Amino acid sequence: MSEFAIQVKNVDFSYQENEPVLNNISFNIKKGQYVCLIGHNGSGKSTLAKLLVYLIEPMHGEIYINDLLLCEENTKKIRETVGIVFQNPDNQFIGSTVEDDIAFGLENRCVAHENMQKIVREYAEKVDMAKYLEKEPSELSGGQKQRVAIAGILALNLDIIIFDEATSMLDPEGVEEIKRLIFNMRKANPNLTFISITHDVEEAYLSDYVILLNKGNIYKEGTPFEVFENTNDLAELGLDLPFVLKVKKALKEKGMNIPTNIKSIEELSDYLCK
Ligand code: ADP
Repeated sequence: MSEFAIQVKNVDFSYQENEPVLNNISFNIKKGQYVCLIGHNGSGKSTLAKLLVYLIEPMHGEIYINDLLLCEENTKKIRETVGIVFQNPDNQFIGSTVEDDIAFGLENRCVAHENMQKIVREYAEKVDMAKYLEKEPSELSGGQKQRVAIAGILALNLDIIIFDEATSMLDPEGVEEIKRLIFNMRKANPNLTFISITHDVEEAYLSDYVILLNKGNIYKEGTPFEVFENTNDLAELGLDLPFVLKVKKALKEKGMNIPTNIKSIEELSDYLCK
């Protein structure tokens, strides 16, 4: 077994002939990492996520999940390993009630009924939806539906979880709640690999690894510091600078000599207080 949860090798994809959406994409994601996939709208992030869960197939190249090639005959195993929550919760609500919806994936895995009820309740509580278990999707707000979709994936105890802007309809407090939940799950299971497609540069700056897509190509990848500190054309790539780097830049523009290797707000305030 390799150290990688995901290996993408020379992947090309297009929805229509002669209109490439992803060009020769290659990258590896180590087990247990929190990885952010960032970039302009239309840069190919969602398409890449769909490839990773085998909803679509590469035209060329290969993808390995826990060293297993993504292909028709490995579909069952792959579904037990990796799951995704999309931005639009309406396309993902499968059950007729919240309870049925969270239970759906567990049913597919033939979890015993009593155990299933326990797990459904546990995860409904984790996303603060326990009092809505009997409700139908039409009675829920967009953010509540997103919470349910998140509970349904987290309940499956997968190795790899992908959030494709999965908290976009939550208020900031709700987003923080879900981030804490993921943090605690990763603490309990250090092998859990988490991929977040996000426009939140602060989230990306705190992650382990960042992959920046632009027009279907990997524009840059590396630690968040490597990606954000050394990219001068972030605005053209649809990205803002993380707060601490913005402050560093402003101080430098005022003529202050701030060491390049300062990465965090703590390091910056320590330096300024000296
Ligand atoms: P992102 O997630 O970075 O916003 P997407 O992967 O959704 O980017 O889209 C990449 C490109 O593929 C865009 O030009 C988009 O219009 C196109 N695209 C996405 N989904 C489809 C589809 N189902 N059919 C045809 N084109 C698509």
